[in-house]
Amino acid sequence: MRSFTYERATDAQAAVAAVSRTGAKFISGGTNLLDLMKLDIEKPSHLVDISRLPLRDIEELPDGGLLIGAQAANSDVAADARVRTRYPVLSEALVAGASGQLRNKASTGGNLLQRTRCPYFYDTAAGCNKRDPGSGCSAIGGFNRIHALLGVSDSCIATHPSDMAVAMTVLEAEIELLDADGSVRRVAIADLYRLPGDTPHIETVLRPREMITSVLLPPPPSGRQTYRKVRDRASYEFALVSVAAVVSTDQGAISEARVAFGGVAHKPWRSIEAEAALTGRPATMVTYRAAAEAAMCDAVGQGHNDFKIELAKRTLCRTLAQAAQAS
Ligand SMILES: Cc1cc2nc3c(=O)[nH]c(=O)nc-3n(C[C@H](O)[C@H](O)[C@H](O)COP(=O)(O)OP(=O)(O)OC[C@H]3O[C@@H](n4cnc5c(N)ncnc54)[C@H](O)[C@@H]3O)c2cc1C
Ligand code: SF4
Repeated sequence: MRSFTYERATDAQAAVAAVSRTGAKFISGGTNLLDLMKLDIEKPSHLVDISRLPLRDIEELPDGGLLIGAQAANSDVAADARVRTRYPVLSEALVAGASGQLRNKASTGGNLLQRTRCPYFYDTAAGCNKRDPGSGCSAIGGFNRIHALLGVSDSCIATHPSDMAVAMTVLEAEIELLDADGSVRRVAIADLYRLPGDTPHIETVLRPREMITSVLLPPPPSGRQTYRKVRDRASYEFALVSVAAVVSTDQGAISEARVAFGGVAHKPWRSIEAEAALTGRPATMVTYRAAAEAAMCDAVGQGHNDFKIELAKRTLCRTLAQAAQAS
């Protein structure tokens, strides 16, 4: 591990000013960043600790939504009574992630910006365009069982590992960002993440000195919300495939549906194709299967991960059946 300097920010504006320094990086819970520093993948020369900033609260918004502070711990968000009753898909996704200890430490902002779990990204002896631009992608033609099916490029086939971000995608959350010049902007979560293209090392639309200060959830959508995660073991494991769904039914037909996948792309993958195939159709397995086929119509396996195409389809069908039954 390389040596670095450290400071604890006292307020949000001081934090973004401090991170303007060359080589500086924010640290929140440190559950991802410190691992990457120990492996010599992240090499900040200065850490700006934002974990004690007064951004931990979860507050009601005038429109009936909720504001979640960027420093709110994953466990606090999952346990919040308003999140559990009005946004159960978010609570379920958070509880499905990591472990109790990690969720106590992990922050909302850090969870959104955690890095991929591609094994070659963590192996400094392997070529990886995300870690070392121009060095190639060892996962293409390599061991790619956990990799992406949609939106990939010749440069990178990694997936985004967050469960929370998948739930926030169907909830159509907005991310509030503070820049060092004092300006504040909001970005829809659908626009936060980039596909890999030929610059997989640039993962979001954040500017270098911007800090996430909060996540805004609009009023809860009508219908039943569900999160289903399929993984190699029941706990302490990232998703092979996950689905967040919101389904409303009216007299046996689906009146509205929102669908997002985790584990299939470089970002949480909202499936407009699946939603179109569901809306106005009977709430039956035939409809769910048609939606699953539509969702995966552009999916391309990389060899070891071919099974994930069928897995994603079946996970969607099961999730929709569960959601529609209860709505
Ligand atoms: C063993 C293990 C298993 C896990 N399993 C899962 C899982 O199943 N599902 C899942 O979703 N996650 C899982 N995780 C990941 C975990 O959720 C993340 O490590 C955690 O959410 C990151 O939050 P943090 O506050 O610790 O971020 P940090 O590690 O402190 O930061 C992560 C990144 O975000 C940046 N950052 C942090 N906060 C801000 C901010 N407010 N504004 C701008 N930049 C910021 C940092 O600079 C850094 O680049 C697992 C982690 C481990 C170690
Ligand atoms: S998939 Fe992306 S993260 Fe993995 S080796 Fe290729 S470039 Fe690196």
